[in-house]
Amino acid sequence: MKCQRMLGIISTIKMTVMSGFKPALAKWADLVPRLNSTKLGVAMIMLLWFGVAAKFHENRQNDLANAKQDLQNLTYQFEENVIRSISEIDKALLYLRLTIQASNATVDYQSLVGKSYVLSDLIVQVAIIDADGIMRASNVGPQPAPPINLSDREHFRAHLGTLADSLFISRPVIGRASGKWSVQLTRRFNKPDGSLGGVIVASFNPEHFAKFYGRIELGKGATYALIGTDGVVRATGGDEESRFPLGKDLTSDQQMSYAASEQTTTFVDVTTSSATPRFVAVKKVAGHPLLVSASVPEASIFADSERSLLWMLLASTLLSVMIGMSTLHTREADRRLKRKAIELKLTLEHMTQGIIMVTKDLQIPVINRQCTQLLDLPPDFLIDTPRFDELIRHQQHQGEFATANIDENADPLDVFGPNDVAGKFNLYERTRPDGSVIEVRTTRVADGGFVRTFTDITGRRQAQTVANKLACEDPLTGLANRRVLSEAVDQLSTNNTNQFGVLCLDLDRFKKVNDTQGHAVGDQLLKAVAERLKQSLRSTDLVARLGGDEFAVVLSPIKSARTCQIVVKRLVEAIGRPFEIDGRQILIGTSIGVAVGPADGSSTNDLLVAADLALYAAKAAGRGGYQFFAKEMNEEVKTRQAIEVDLRTAIAEQQLELHYQPIIKLKDNSIIGFEALARWTHPVTGPIAPDTFIPIAEETGLIMVLGEWALREACTQALKWPTDIGVAVNLSPLQFGSVDLVKTVENILEETGLSPARLELEITEGLLMRNTESTVAALHDLKKLGVRIAMDDFGTGYSSLSYLQSFPFDRIKVDRSFVSKLGTSSSSTSVIKAVVEIAKASGMQTTAEGVETEDQRAGLEELGYDEAQGYLFSRPLRLSQVASAIAQWNCKVPMAA
Ligand code: C2E
Ligand code: CA
Ligand code: CA
Repeated sequence: MKCQRMLGIISTIKMTVMSGFKPALAKWADLVPRLNSTKLGVAMIMLLWFGVAAKFHENRQNDLANAKQDLQNLTYQFEENVIRSISEIDKALLYLRLTIQASNATVDYQSLVGKSYVLSDLIVQVAIIDADGIMRASNVGPQPAPPINLSDREHFRAHLGTLADSLFISRPVIGRASGKWSVQLTRRFNKPDGSLGGVIVASFNPEHFAKFYGRIELGKGATYALIGTDGVVRATGGDEESRFPLGKDLTSDQQMSYAASEQTTTFVDVTTSSATPRFVAVKKVAGHPLLVSASVPEASIFADSERSLLWMLLASTLLSVMIGMSTLHTREADRRLKRKAIELKLTLEHMTQGIIMVTKDLQIPVINRQCTQLLDLPPDFLIDTPRFDELIRHQQHQGEFATANIDENADPLDVFGPNDVAGKFNLYERTRPDGSVIEVRTTRVADGGFVRTFTDITGRRQAQTVANKLACEDPLTGLANRRVLSEAVDQLSTNNTNQFGVLCLDLDRFKKVNDTQGHAVGDQLLKAVAERLKQSLRSTDLVARLGGDEFAVVLSPIKSARTCQIVVKRLVEAIGRPFEIDGRQILIGTSIGVAVGPADGSSTNDLLVAADLALYAAKAAGRGGYQFFAKEMNEEVKTRQAIEVDLRTAIAEQQLELHYQPIIKLKDNSIIGFEALARWTHPVTGPIAPDTFIPIAEETGLIMVLGEWALREACTQALKWPTDIGVAVNLSPLQFGSVDLVKTVENILEETGLSPARLELEITEGLLMRNTESTVAALHDLKKLGVRIAMDDFGTGYSSLSYLQSFPFDRIKVDRSFVSKLGTSSSSTSVIKAVVEIAKASGMQTTAEGVETEDQRAGLEELGYDEAQGYLFSRPLRLSQVASAIAQWNCKVPMAA
């Protein structure tokens, strides 16, 4: 584990160096998860320098070890060389001694030293000194060698006073014979009695070792030396500046104390004689009172490590700077990242929506609290987030999708998984098991993952439901409204070949209940009616309230029109039963119009109109009835509608005119006046009868304009007639309604200048049937103007004589229906008789209408009627014919203008 981690760190250092800091940071963060980038940077730099130090130390150790090894090797070889060299010289000495001793000192010393075989590179001089210290022979210098006294010389004196046979090695001296630096190696030779015969000398050339040095390269500044145990340098080599001078006494030098008794190499890393620190190896030469020493300057030992240290320092500094800069950069980036992360976190946590981000491999790197709350996920999921497929499985396990209306066999991961963005599911709504509704919006992101938000739209949906309900429901009764009804009929008429019924209902006497009992009771009654209607129908039928006391029903499906009839009868019966509201019994009823689809209409509108027309017909036929739609109703309505439209323009465009029917005084057959009757010649369809257009004008309110126009026109024309000729104008009961009729009449009389006494206003029983005090008051006011008031069409309404007593009429006009049966119907005859009697009793004049025969005229005259109108005398005349009619009937009376 440790090792792997180390490898990881090493490869990361490499990566850091090779490919920059950023990608490496992630790797580092894996390795050292809790370090931030600054600490990481510092740690990296420290680690780097620690490595450099360690490496340097290691290099130094290596260098030192190598130097030791080199120096040791050198001392070994040097020792070896010294031993071999000395032994070679010693061999020569021993040979010479043997020769001398064997000849019992008779041998010629001069020739002996001249023998070439005793000489070698090593030996500079061979000499023989006698027992008195006088040199007897030498191979160098003048020959034969002059006897030089050497008795004071150390190499001679060393053999005096001792019997020991040992090789003496002298300090370096300038040879008296050779004149060169040399080290004398001497051995004694004995006389036959064993006393000292003399000393054989072989001078050793210290330069010999320079050659040795030449073969072994120790490096710059290296030195070596052969030193006697007495401390005097016997030979020296190597760097000329650093080496010991020949003959130098090193007894006080530190290395001497180390090496004196040791057999092995000893290292001393202190300054010797040179100023710079040196590393020295000293070894005793086996079998001789000599030491070999080799030294190198300390600086040269560590040159390699120091050179590599330089490079390492350079590289490390560079790397440190790089890491430092990267760290700074990363720290800034880190800070930005951190800020971004905080902002993101804040955003995510304050979103009202739940959000998850799912990667291509179904990991969920982002999930917010709202998401867990909205989906009832464990809060742990925020920290220990499962994979997306695990999440879906978890939800499925919790029954999350039980109400989601998905195919039983479908895999929820397929339906709600990452694939759903491809098709129709990128925005969908889902009802959760707890009834809440969530909207799920999925957006694909570039790397193949997706982001999904969850919005709680329960409130929105509920509001929508309420709104839908409001839009579809009649608020009072809770029944469907007109819109729903239309839609239902629409649906049936477009998608259905089966028959269905459309019923329009209108309550009878409801208005009276509402007026007398108050709206609260009216409302309760409507609710009760709605309830009864529902109870009388199947669940597949639809009841709607269209407004006021109008209801509609759609019966579907039905077998035939006969089914409709049965249901309709049931409804009439149900509504006909008394209602009990607030402890009061209320009796109403209903009229029903029935249309059967699709026969009676191809569209909703047609069918509703058809049912409405049928209802109209049913009401006309009497209360509590029902009527099926018949095609003719439609025709009638259509012409009515056309008339209604055209009548508006007719008034504006003066298509209307007045015709005048003479009123004849029965006594002398003279015209006493004319009744003005409206005429309409339609530009397309020709003349339209007042019986057709007057009721329409009344329904539409156009009667106000029409009535005023007729009054003004009649007065205007009458002014041109003889002053004893009056004019009668018909008034609609409606004209007594909204506008001030009295004022209008007064104005017109003023405008035209017609004497009020010449104007007679005809009203009908209908006006008095809806008698109110204001109507009677208006009649009185009119009468006060001096205008005469006639009761028209008497006998056609309730024919109640009480009406005649409610107002002092000036005239009674008995209706044509009685006149036509005069003499043929006794009841009619008695009405005609009664009217004239009452009139006479009340001082009213009498007119008989619709007189068509001479018999009628005679009968009426006989009964005492004052005046008469009818085709017998004249049809209503055009204005242009009025003058001649007057002239014809009243020939003696001249025309006014
Ligand atoms: P009305 O006031 O009873 O008018 C008398 C009607 O009897 C007139 O019909 C007239 O042409 C008709 N008539 C007169 N003599 C005879 C006859 O011998 N035999 C038959 N069969 N009919 C006769 P018209 O002109 O068609 O008017 C019908 C009704 O229209 C009038 O009945 C009146 O109620 C109403 N009307 C006409 N013009 C006006 C008007 O300017 N204002 C108002 N409010 N109603 C009008
Ligand atoms: Ca009339
Ligand atoms: Ca009449």
